[in-house]
Amino acid sequence: MAVKVLLNEDEIPRQWYNLAADLPSPLQPPLGPDGKPIGPEDLAPVFPMNLIEQEVSRERWIDIPEEILEILYRWRPSPLRRAVYLEKALNTPARIYYKDEGVSPPGSHKPNTAVAQAWYNKQFGIERITTETGAGQWGSALAFACAILGLKCKVYMVRISFDQKPFRKLMMNVWGAECVASPSMNTQAGRDVLAKHPDTPGSLGIAISEAIEDAVSDRSGKTRYSLGSVLNHVMLHQTIIGLEAKKQLAKIGEKKVDVVIGCAGGGSNFAGLAFPFVADKINGARIEIIPVEPSSCPTLTRAPFTYDHGDVAKMTPLLAMHTLGHEFVSPPIHAGGLRYHGMSPLVSQAVVEGLLTPRSMDQLHCYESALFWARTEGYIPAPETSHAIAAVIEEAKKAREEGKEKVILFNWSGHGLMDLSGYANYMEGKLVDYPLPEEELQESLRSLEGLPKAPIVKTGRW
Ligand SMILES: *Cc1c(COP(=O)(O)O)cnc(C)c1O
Repeated sequence: MAVKVLLNEDEIPRQWYNLAADLPSPLQPPLGPDGKPIGPEDLAPVFPMNLIEQEVSRERWIDIPEEILEILYRWRPSPLRRAVYLEKALNTPARIYYKDEGVSPPGSHKPNTAVAQAWYNKQFGIERITTETGAGQWGSALAFACAILGLKCKVYMVRISFDQKPFRKLMMNVWGAECVASPSMNTQAGRDVLAKHPDTPGSLGIAISEAIEDAVSDRSGKTRYSLGSVLNHVMLHQTIIGLEAKKQLAKIGEKKVDVVIGCAGGGSNFAGLAFPFVADKINGARIEIIPVEPSSCPTLTRAPFTYDHGDVAKMTPLLAMHTLGHEFVSPPIHAGGLRYHGMSPLVSQAVVEGLLTPRSMDQLHCYESALFWARTEGYIPAPETSHAIAAVIEEAKKAREEGKEKVILFNWSGHGLMDLSGYANYMEGKLVDYPLPEEELQESLRSLEGLPKAPIVKTGRW
């Protein structure tokens, strides 16, 4: 029985898929501080224009430059694996497939966009890139991409992860990047937060403020900022995952997928796998598409769809998205990559439209699922990925109860070999569930007061 489906280099997809071209209800435009839609030139101090063009593009297919593919060949096309050992252990009639994004040098899906972003920055004449990182996967992915392309890289790492995950920082250093704990004394945004909350664990929102401030205050004009998730061009770069998966499923003779699952922090690994299947759903296919988030950071399942800033210092434009409020500081759960207050506007609009059915998971259930996976399939997943696995196991059990031969596809967004301290805490019984208390949610949503409301536009077809 085939348990892995590989593609050759010459079978790699040569275009990215842009869901913005096909969403039945339009994306709401980003707004400036005055509440008016912003134009590409407003983003120019922060991002290079070639990436801004992708951010606002409504073209369905965008060519992947040959030089980017040359770099991606190091690990792409990534394997599509079938989780036969898990299927057997669960005694399910479902066939479970997953894209293994853990095979990239930094160990997650993130270099798919890091390489593309670094390449476009270099094309535009940029010499240095700043960014934030939560668990450290994004920082290490961008550090890797900058090393390959010969760019300087500075990473602001959320303090709690900086302390919990020293090895991610060391990976960045190996790839030649500088990494500081955020909030830091390097920026006004960081100094402001530290003055008010000297013991803060930090947050992605704070780290983003610092990284943007660093980029826009470089007078030489040779520094830009890079974001690892949330934005349209990031979702775009990740669609290579789902496009490869389609070719691989066809190669192994699967005609139809019933369930598509990915964990969702800012939405990029989920979108990367799911968007090509969302296109099928828009065109009439019956597929259940499930983003999975932590119950401690329930952006899609409990937070409103409205305009909000991407960062605490309000340096980013207002984006129409599901958001817990830009001042949200997540409880320190171990899935650091799933702690962001907002969600990709593309993913959010697809949820509004009813194309996706989000689900939330408690931390302990995720670790239990991750151990079950590791003890059957063998690979140790990232704590983020364990959220997808928990949903996959639920769906596989449901298929067993219904006696249905479903095809379940999910994104194995990364390995957990740098996250073993989280596993240690779980196995020692030190972790607890922390579904976000309603009062804390309401408190956090208060930072949305006074911001424009995003219109809820949907066709009602799903
Ligand atoms: C960063 C990360 C995530 C969450 O980010 P998305 O943009 O939602 O994909 C999930 N899994 C892994 C392994 C990550 O590194």
